[in-house]
Amino acid sequence: MREFETLHAIVDEKKLELPDQALVVVAHHDDEKMWNMQSHLAQRGVGLTVLVLTDSSGRDLKGYTPERLAKARWTEGTASAQEAGLAGLHRIGLPDGQLSSYIDYAIEFGEQFIDDKAVVFAPNYGDEHPDHVAANIVAQKLAGDATPLYEMDTLTGYDQYGNVLVPTEKDIYQPLSTRTARKEKKIYKELNPTQTKNIPWHQRKAMFDALGMTSRRGRERGIPHAAVLFKANNAINDPTRKWLQRSVA
Ligand SMILES: [Zn+2]
Repeated sequence: MREFETLHAIVDEKKLELPDQALVVVAHHDDEKMWNMQSHLAQRGVGLTVLVLTDSSGRDLKGYTPERLAKARWTEGTASAQEAGLAGLHRIGLPDGQLSSYIDYAIEFGEQFIDDKAVVFAPNYGDEHPDHVAANIVAQKLAGDATPLYEMDTLTGYDQYGNVLVPTEKDIYQPLSTRTARKEKKIYKELNPTQTKNIPWHQRKAMFDALGMTSRRGRERGIPHAAVLFKANNAINDPTRKWLQRSVA
């Protein structure tokens, strides 16, 4: 088996001792920010372990070789993990943009972290980025039939068949109006790295809009942590609702 670099950071050892543990599976550093839920759960006494499945070096940034970018993103990732109150951050450096060709490696990497986890969070299967779809497939495999899997918002509000996503938990996921979904799909298209290699300055606003989407939708409906997740129907037990009802520690 080909070797890929793995990086490990125990961010807060005490959090690994908490009775409630969750695994977040993403393709790239920052993907988990799209769902805006992690610090929320961390504050409520959930130990979060984030797995990043690629070296996240795919963006073409001036002054950065892929190696340098991969390194910088790890540094940035550990800093933001600290800020979000995570328990741990782990990365396997599979090639950014080609994750779907390395799913077995990703699963093998993830298997060492799944045992004590009560919930798995992953990008949406309907996401437009092929690496995000691959991360979802890995998470499905790790979660199996017993561990509930939550999918993050697609940002577009659409699945791959063009259906507006329907919430399965109305206080956790909220429906989008067709108009908003269309607008967000457009913003996301502009961000899709397979279509735009560089992100020009004028698109940075769109980027921040995309990052703020989930929280904005929630605020519009008076739900502070809405529009971030919906549950794949793979398991009956589900502690997430209970976690969210807890008051902040
Ligand atoms: Zn990503």
